[in-house]
Amino acid sequence: MDPVHIIGAGVSGLGAAHYLAARGIPSVIHEVGSHVGGRAACIQQGEHAFEIGGKNFSSAWPRFNALLQEFGITEFEDQHPGFHIVMNNALVALEKSKTLTGDLRLASALGPRGALQFRNFLSYARQNADRLNYTSGLIEQVEKRWDHATIDKHFTKRLNEGPLRLFSIIMGGAEPSELYPSLMMLFASGFGKGSHHAIAGGIGQFHDNLAKGKTIRFGSKVRQILTYEGHVSGLMLEEKTGPRMIPASRVISAVPAHVLRQMTDLPAYGRVALDQLRYFPLAMVNVVYDAPVFKDGVHSIMFEPGAPLGHCSANRLHSPHHVRYTLSGKAARNILDRSDVDLVQIAEETFSKRLPIKAGRLRVHVARHPGGICGYAPYFTTVKKDILRAAESISGLEIAGDFLEGHTMEGCLTSADLAVQRLLAPAQRRGVPVQRWAAE
Ligand SMILES: Cc1cc2nc3c(=O)[nH]c(=O)nc-3n(C[C@H](O)[C@H](O)[C@H](O)COP(=O)(O)OP(=O)(O)OC[C@H]3O[C@@H](n4cnc5c(N)ncnc54)[C@H](O)[C@@H]3O)c2cc1C
Repeated sequence: MDPVHIIGAGVSGLGAAHYLAARGIPSVIHEVGSHVGGRAACIQQGEHAFEIGGKNFSSAWPRFNALLQEFGITEFEDQHPGFHIVMNNALVALEKSKTLTGDLRLASALGPRGALQFRNFLSYARQNADRLNYTSGLIEQVEKRWDHATIDKHFTKRLNEGPLRLFSIIMGGAEPSELYPSLMMLFASGFGKGSHHAIAGGIGQFHDNLAKGKTIRFGSKVRQILTYEGHVSGLMLEEKTGPRMIPASRVISAVPAHVLRQMTDLPAYGRVALDQLRYFPLAMVNVVYDAPVFKDGVHSIMFEPGAPLGHCSANRLHSPHHVRYTLSGKAARNILDRSDVDLVQIAEETFSKRLPIKAGRLRVHVARHPGGICGYAPYFTTVKKDILRAAESISGLEIAGDFLEGHTMEGCLTSADLAVQRLLAPAQRRGVPVQRWAAE
C-alpha cells in the first residue's frame, strides 16, 4: 500500500501518523527539523529536559488521555494551583479554585463592575465547556454576539489588563486588543475543566511514543504540494543537493496555516481564509539556577502591559529553581530579534523587579517561535468552513494543525484524527467525483 505522506512531525503530524497506523495504514513523515514535537518539543541537554512550548494537559482531554493510557505513561505532576498577576504595581493572586466563588483581593483589584463581568464570563464558559469548541455549534453563537470587536472593547480596563490578559498572553501570546472574544471563551472553557498536569520527566515521552515505529525523514523540507487535475500528484522537496520531486497521491499537511498557505495552490477563497488567521511570535527561555528563584507561594507570574516578559513560571511546582520565561505580547515583539544573551538578560531584569533573583545560572536554553501561537480569527467558524472546503477541492489532500480545532495539543490531535477520517471517507461522502478516484 502506498504510504500517506505527512508534512510535519509536531503533535498534529505525529498524531495523524498514529491514527493511520491504528488502521494499518503506513505513512512517511517529512520533517524539516532534526527532532519531533515541533512547538511542543522537549530538548534534552545533559540531565535537563527543556520543554520549549506545549507541555500542560487537562485530565478532561479525551484523545490526549487515551494516548497516555495506551503508552502506559502514568507519572504526572500537577500544574500550579494559580497565578500571580502584576496589577497596580503589586502581585495579585488568582487562584483557579477561587475565581468563581469569589476572591476578595482579586475582586477589589478589579472593581465591582470588572469582578462581575469576570464572574459572568467564567461561569458561562464553565457551564458550556463541553459545547465550546470548533466542532459544535455553540461557539458560532458566541461569535455572532461578541466577535464584532476585540476583547478589550467588551470589558473594563482593569479586567483587560489583569485576568483577561492572563488568558490572552498565556494561551495566545497576544494582547486582549489583538484577539476576539470567541477565542477567549474557548480559553476560559478549559480553565477549571478537569485538572491540569504535565508529564513527569517531560512531554518528550509522549512524542517518542507517538513516533515509535513511524517512518520520519528528518531534514526533509517540503516546498510544495504538487497537484495534477485537482488531485495530489507529488511533493517538491528542498534538499541540500537541490529540489527533488517525489510522487504522492495522499498527503496530510500538519504544518501551521501560514506554512500551508505557501506550499499549496488553494482556491482564492481558501487563500483569503488562511490569510485571516493570525500567529503571534514569542520566545521561550528556560533557565536552571543553582538555588530557588520562586518563593512565598508564587509559582507563576503574568507581567503588566508594556513589560517585555509576558509571563513566567516554575517549570514544575517542585522545581522553583527552573524558570520558563515567555517573552510574548506586544512589547516583547520589539525585542524578539535581539540576541539570546539579550533575551535572557531582559527576562531576568523584568522578573527581578517582582522577585529579586539571588541565584546563579546553571543552564540556559533559548527557543524562538517565529510562527508562535495561533490567535485564530474573528468569526472563525465561517473561516474554517472555507479552509476545509478549499482543502477538499484538492482530492488526496487533508489538513491538520493548530488552526482548526483549537491550538492545544488536544486540539491538534483532534484535527489529526478528523483529517485521517476525512482522508479515508468514501469519495462520495467527501463530494469528490468518483471517476477521479477510480482513475488512481
Ligand atoms: C510557548 C508555547 C507554550 C504552549 N503551551 C501549551 C500547553 O501547555 N499545552 C498545550 O496543549 N499546548 C500548548 N501550546 C500549543 C501547542 O504547543 C501547539 O499548538 C502544538 O505544539 C502545535 O503542533 P502542530 O503539530 O500543529 O505544529 P508544530 O508543532 O509547529 O509542528 C509542525 C512541524 O512541521 C515542521 N515543518 C514546518 N514547515 C515544514 C516544511 N516545509 N516541511 C517539512 N516540515 C515542516 C516543523 O519543523 C514542525 O516540527 C504552546 C505553544 C507554545 C508556542
